[in-house]
Amino acid sequence: MSSNGASKFTPGIPAKENIIVDGVLRYPAIGSKALIVGAGIAGMMAALECWRKGIEVEIIEKAATNAPFGDGVLIGPSAFTTFHHYPSMIKEYEEISHDVQLSFAGRDGTPMVSLQEFEWNREGVALTSAYPLRIKSLLGRRSFTEMLLSQCKRLGIPITYGVTIENYEEDISKKNATAVALDGQRYTADIVVASDGLGTKSHALTLGRPVRAFKTGLVVYRGMYSTDRLKDAPVAGDFIRNLQRPVLLALVANNIHCILAFTKTDVILGITTEEEDDINTTDSWSSTVSNATLLSLLPEPETWSPLLREAIHHAPDQSIVRWSLCFRNPQPCWTSTGGHVIQLGDSAHSFLPTSANGATQALEDALSLPECLRLGGKEGLGVATKVHELLRYQRVSLIQHFGFVNIQDFHREFDQKALQKYPLLLMGKWLWAHNAEKYATDNFYKACAHLETGSPFENTNLPPGHKWSDWTVEDELAKQKAGVLTMLELKSNGDWSIV
Ligand SMILES: Cc1cc2nc3c(=O)[nH]c(=O)nc-3n(C[C@H](O)[C@H](O)[C@H](O)COP(=O)(O)OP(=O)(O)OC[C@H]3O[C@@H](n4cnc5c(N)ncnc54)[C@H](O)[C@@H]3O)c2cc1C
Repeated sequence: MSSNGASKFTPGIPAKENIIVDGVLRYPAIGSKALIVGAGIAGMMAALECWRKGIEVEIIEKAATNAPFGDGVLIGPSAFTTFHHYPSMIKEYEEISHDVQLSFAGRDGTPMVSLQEFEWNREGVALTSAYPLRIKSLLGRRSFTEMLLSQCKRLGIPITYGVTIENYEEDISKKNATAVALDGQRYTADIVVASDGLGTKSHALTLGRPVRAFKTGLVVYRGMYSTDRLKDAPVAGDFIRNLQRPVLLALVANNIHCILAFTKTDVILGITTEEEDDINTTDSWSSTVSNATLLSLLPEPETWSPLLREAIHHAPDQSIVRWSLCFRNPQPCWTSTGGHVIQLGDSAHSFLPTSANGATQALEDALSLPECLRLGGKEGLGVATKVHELLRYQRVSLIQHFGFVNIQDFHREFDQKALQKYPLLLMGKWLWAHNAEKYATDNFYKACAHLETGSPFENTNLPPGHKWSDWTVEDELAKQKAGVLTMLELKSNGDWSIV
């Protein structure tokens, strides 16, 4: 083997013909099959990218159909770096995405930070990794997953609904893995991708034990409905009629923050607060609350912005979902021993909404893994998944940490002094100028050599100069309790600038 570990892998094979379906150019087949478990955001994007990279691919999903649930998701530029390869999908993205502006305010709606573009759309900042695509960051989860699903269908990727995977197995001698369904049906492939969300059953194989997500003590109430319902609301009705651009308002007070997004057609509502002890955890989209209950959760309701109160009051009753926020400490191992099972998206890493990155990081995963599989080729699939994990773990763990640190800012009345020390929510160009596919291409062989021979390798997809270390929720919360401003600590570690 050469010193960079490259010689055992076949570099690209010359194409014998061009395969172009729906305008998408496919790499030559590598002769391997990936089975994707879970048709969520991570699973469907990974399936598309596997197809494009010449890997045979199939998806199985627990739900009976594309889940109609969910409200708004914020998705950043680094999720879209391969969209130009999908001409139909990029057109659809243009139609369904909302070019939202952002504002932070106190509970009564008084702006603390005036209406502004997301950091990557500001004048004079670094270019995003999706440039020249304008990133319109707010999407309805349902329309986004329908867009991915339509693209999977146009490429002929098979999807089977109504299959619940209970167990994962690996056969290292045969270099394959199997996902075992509730009814005993077995699905075998060269690579099995566990993109089955937070409740994945794959930890028994990757870590040797199940790892349940624990309650964070926070609960989020969320919903999305048509702005038609607000046309007679005195304040919100006028607000929507005069809306020039979609807006996202964050109203922040002690131990609670509320997100309100308005587009011409939809209202999106999210209220995150501390969870009462006596309530059973539920992670189901069928656990809803009445509008009156939701209003009563606001401390001194009459002191809150009328926009928020009207948005709650006019929501279809019992349509607001109550979601207990659960989390798993960062787990450095996402793969089975032989590397034929790999976790992707929420199954590998859970996020708090305050990191605004669950979907973005799931999509970055889905761009990185297929490129690693392509470069590994048929013989190197087991190593390729471990390279993907090495390239992704530290970056993802830091962003998970950011979400917890952010709670300090989002759950107390605004403090102008703190705001002057560091601007709220800015994450920096290291996050959105990153191209996960290119990073995999550029670092694959070096990372491979590191895994096989211990030669030096350092990730460069972190803030430049950042000294990375592992963290746990317990440590972070203990520091916060002791009054440490962990955001300052984190932001002084490396370059988080946007220019
Ligand atoms: C129905 C739904 C609605 C959501 N709505 C929002 C939202 O409004 N806002 C937001 O910010 N985030 C939402 N999320 C979460 C967000 O989409 C994810 O955090 C993020 O995009 C990561 O995506 P993922 O594909 O890793 O996980 P997920 O989006 O959770 O997708 C996992 C998929 O795997 C399937 N699955 C689960 N278990 C099994 C099993 N045992 N066998 C087979 N398939 C299985 C699920 O049905 C799902 O389709 C929602 C998730 C779901 C599932």
